Amino acid sequence: MKYFSTRSGCDAVSFEHAVIAGLAPDGGLYIPSESIQAPSDFLTAWKDLTFQQLAAEIFSLYIPESEVPRADLEDLIAKSYSTFKVPEVTPVRALNADKNQYLLELFHGPTYAFKDVALQFVGNLFEYFLTRRNVGKAADALDREKITVIGATSGDTGSAAIYGLRNKKDVSVFILYPEGRVSPIQEQQMTTVLDPNVHTITVPGTFDDCQDLVKQMFADKEFNSKYHVGAVNSINWARILAQITYYFASYFQFAKTKGSDVKVKYVVPTGNFGDILAGFYAEKLGLPIELTVATNANDILYRFFKSGAYTKENEVHATLSPAMDIIVSSNFERFLWHAARSTVAKSDTEAGSLVKQWMDELKATGSFRVPSEVHKLASSTFGAQHTNDKTTKTTIAKVYNEYCPNYVLDPHTAVGVNAAWLEQEADADKHKVYVTLSTAHPAKFSEAVNEALVGVKGYSFENDVLPDEFKVMMQAKTKKIKANSSEKAEIQQIVVSELAKEQQL
Ligand SMILES: *Cc1c(COP(=O)(O)O)cnc(C)c1O
Repeated sequence: MKYFSTRSGCDAVSFEHAVIAGLAPDGGLYIPSESIQAPSDFLTAWKDLTFQQLAAEIFSLYIPESEVPRADLEDLIAKSYSTFKVPEVTPVRALNADKNQYLLELFHGPTYAFKDVALQFVGNLFEYFLTRRNVGKAADALDREKITVIGATSGDTGSAAIYGLRNKKDVSVFILYPEGRVSPIQEQQMTTVLDPNVHTITVPGTFDDCQDLVKQMFADKEFNSKYHVGAVNSINWARILAQITYYFASYFQFAKTKGSDVKVKYVVPTGNFGDILAGFYAEKLGLPIELTVATNANDILYRFFKSGAYTKENEVHATLSPAMDIIVSSNFERFLWHAARSTVAKSDTEAGSLVKQWMDELKATGSFRVPSEVHKLASSTFGAQHTNDKTTKTTIAKVYNEYCPNYVLDPHTAVGVNAAWLEQEADADKHKVYVTLSTAHPAKFSEAVNEALVGVKGYSFENDVLPDEFKVMMQAKTKKIKANSSEKAEIQQIVVSELAKEQQL
């Protein structure tokens, strides 16, 4: 099993290489070189496995034993999910059992958002690979392989990356965020991590400025090769892989309680198409599920599924579900490759050439249209809905007041729940189970939640939403570095001097 690029422009690489590099050198995304199926008896053989055991079965289909022996893989998995607050890792809860509506709660990790499921594992994988590469080298040896992870955040992803990488040997992490534009809870989540390898930098400017700086640092060849700049962004294959597990884990719960012929549709709040792509790979492995994409007003995917044209908007819409505020969905390229391969492309290389052609066209003109066979396949694989801010708020209120008294949805999950309601209304099959992926704890998005529930009798953010752990965190000691400008040279100087300080510890 190797990994090759969605654009066919470079050689196939190992799992380790794909994970450490992130992006392929031709600008494409790494995908598995083989089409994999779960063992033919998995529906019975896997049904009683724990989350961790399921993860081991699934991951080992994609990670050769020669790269990560099974015992090591099991250790990595055990370590990654030991930080979760509930033994099931990703529990299912009823939204309205009579109506067959459920939530899959993915936010019980250390930063209260679904990205922990993947980033806890990715952090441990990075450390595992680096430790192996540095075997026999002294702690201060000049030839030790190290990675300097640099990322930008508007709030939500930064903390998940920090908690995934904190205290990992030979890894340093720098997270840039716009000064004064991140919510106090999210800022506190990042800056209260005091491990010496974690560095948060506030930048005078916007999130786009931060993202731009990260791009500039990656593009700076000299800096990049000297400090081994890496990323753990949403296109990393290991993140997709780690997210496959919870589709299986939750499916088996429904199969056990409702019968093995149960039909389950997963509705997934979507930004960069990572979470739902994991559902697509689960389906490719053989899991009999249906999938629906739920977007906010940034609805390039919704429009694609309706029309077959993938058309960028000029500006991102700032919504109440900011972790899904995107102009293009970076992981969608992986699905497009598979869709091309199973329709119009006669070989892997031809699928890659087509994807490259579409991506070039997107870059040049802001839009491309796929052949009707590809569009037909795409829209039979995924349902699609979009939800605006107003409906996001009414959905939060409706769930709190009517469905699950006192249960507060985060705004991303609310986008999903509204999509589930729309899909279910149009569905003739009244026995089908609708599961919305619940991607964050509501305390992280107080603005949306408070706007939705303001004036509701008895509602209090402190009592209904805020976890005790956050109350303690708001008082905890912090560290952050203030950049004086949003110039590349300024940020690079901070990175270099912080790395030197780490070296002296
Ligand atoms: C990242 C994120 C999403 C979107 O996930 P993708 O994998 O990018 O589609 C949804 N909700 C929350 C809370 C997130 O942090």
